[in-house]
Amino acid sequence: KGRILSGVQPTGNLHLGNYLGAIRNFARLQNDYECLYCVVDQHAITVWQDPAQLAAQTREIASAFLAAGVDGNKQIIFNQSMVPEHAQLAWIFNCVARMGWMSRMTQFKEKAGKDRENVSLGLFAYPALMAADILIYKATHVPVGEDQKQHLELTRDIAIKFNNDFSQPDFFPITEPLIFGAATRVMSLRDGTKKMSKSDPSDYSRINLTDDADAIAQKIRRAKTDPLPMPDTLEDAEKRPDADNLLGIYAALADQEKDAVVAQFAGRQFSEFKTALTELAVAKLGPIGAEMQRLMKDPGHVDGVLRNGAQRARAIAAPILDEVYRTVGFLRP
Ligand code: ATP
Ligand code: MG
Repeated sequence: KGRILSGVQPTGNLHLGNYLGAIRNFARLQNDYECLYCVVDQHAITVWQDPAQLAAQTREIASAFLAAGVDGNKQIIFNQSMVPEHAQLAWIFNCVARMGWMSRMTQFKEKAGKDRENVSLGLFAYPALMAADILIYKATHVPVGEDQKQHLELTRDIAIKFNNDFSQPDFFPITEPLIFGAATRVMSLRDGTKKMSKSDPSDYSRINLTDDADAIAQKIRRAKTDPLPMPDTLEDAEKRPDADNLLGIYAALADQEKDAVVAQFAGRQFSEFKTALTELAVAKLGPIGAEMQRLMKDPGHVDGVLRNGAQRARAIAAPILDEVYRTVGFLRP
């Protein structure tokens, strides 16, 4: 059995892209792997977070894992800062990764924008901490959305370099990304060329998992489309990013292939399709949102899941960190 590690940042506004690209797959993989699902609070603070909100958002993400069907008794659900071994290994990886590798990361370039002088050093080092999140458990597989592919490649490069630098070819595994489903990259509802994101200032750009039926309906009604009727081939759809995005969302929520959805709505009006999409989205997301709301009213329970998860995670991480420290040549107590 392989071991999975995946994380979600408690940066607020958990959305449909997070669900279809990552969280839904967490539950689907849990019978075939040993799974660790992490709320990565240390990644979140690479951009300033209000402390009281950060705590609430951490519970929100943990609630989403549970509401999506992850079993917190069988699998390990925890928050990153409760397992200090992540940050400890990250320092070593800061010394393994090269400036040039980090400079090529598109997420950094996008998030830093033009004002590179004023972003945190943590934002630049983010992928080294992410590599540590994964490799502190020697995880073999990482379910993520398409946008994290480049960071996963960097994780592999770090593992390979560490293994070479310390002449231990099999020390860290070469981790495989698991990117699957009909919506591995959900786009903004306002702009089909931009990723749906927690940090997009427009709430109309995304469907949040905690949105009620009215909000979902309104956002889908307002979603950007082009003036033509629905595409009639997959090829036609792929040339029209806004239409393609909505079709991908429908396919993922319905657990169908996208070409079947294209065939079903070919040549129809968008208004008709949007009504069907709204119904489907409300049916699939409503119960998850409701369960999240219920869990968020019970922070004691959620905190218990996180504490218990962190204990079990540390039991795996501590001996691996010890082995890493010895390999590097650090004296041990
Ligand atoms: P932020 O804007 O704060 O970076 P985010 O929406 O990118 O937030 P993350 O916490 O960085 O969310 O990512 C959590 C998981 O969700 C990752 O596996 C990521 O690949 C996936 N993910 C994020 N956005 C999308 C998307 N639009 N479509 C599919 N998967 C996504
Ligand atoms: Mg992100």
